[in-house]
Amino acid sequence: MGEAMILFDNVTKVYGRDTVALERVDLEIEAGEFVFLVGASGSGKSTIMRLILKEVEPTAGSISVNGTKLASIPRRRVPHHRRNIGCVFQDFKLLPNKTAAENVAYAMEVTGQRRRSIRIKVPQILSLVGLAEKSEKYPHELSGGQQQRVSIARAFVSQPPILIADEPTGNLDPDTSMDIMQLLDRIHRIGTTVVVATHDRDMVNALQKRVVALEDGRVVRDKVKGAYADEV
Ligand code: ADP
Repeated sequence: MGEAMILFDNVTKVYGRDTVALERVDLEIEAGEFVFLVGASGSGKSTIMRLILKEVEPTAGSISVNGTKLASIPRRRVPHHRRNIGCVFQDFKLLPNKTAAENVAYAMEVTGQRRRSIRIKVPQILSLVGLAEKSEKYPHELSGGQQQRVSIARAFVSQPPILIADEPTGNLDPDTSMDIMQLLDRIHRIGTTVVVATHDRDMVNALQKRVVALEDGRVVRDKVKGAYADEV
């Protein structure tokens, strides 16, 4: 067994008075795994991501990330915790008035990285994601798939141990979606722990990765080389 990178121990999350988003979830994701989180809208996928980031607190149970219990992290250390976790979103969240290179550089600046390191790493990461030629383009000059590549470059430029992606292909056509998933798989093969929440059945079935299925806040299935749903 490898070591747990993400560990949910009997985690329940209730929003407000009575919206049960997760119920007694046990989940162990080892360092270097690639995991799909699947399930209908409202099944609790985003809540798992938000808990990992410590954007919300569990109502019961405990969570560890990269060997640290999240409950023990004081508020002032939360930004430090989040540097372990690159985030990719469905809607890219790029800054519209910055070029591809500037979007990536800005993410490094806000975490206080040295100029020299930024100057070296930005072109490297943009070529890793296949965008060396597009580094001076603004988001509106890029296709959806290219914008998602910029956002993956931004998430990964500091090589965090964990990359989480919430519906990263939700706005993309099937071919572009496959390119993006292959890029995430490449990042996984470099040694990153990757967690992808998705509705995209074809993608999940094509990639043959571990699949954790949620239904109404419970883990209903966990398969090492899974399909989106069991054959019926
Ligand atoms: P998914 O990502 O699978 O669509 P979510 O984790 O967003 O699922 O939501 C799980 C449940 O929690 C849903 O019933 C949703 O309505 C509820 N929920 C999510 N966020 C909040 C919130 N901030 N306040 C209240 N209820 C929420």
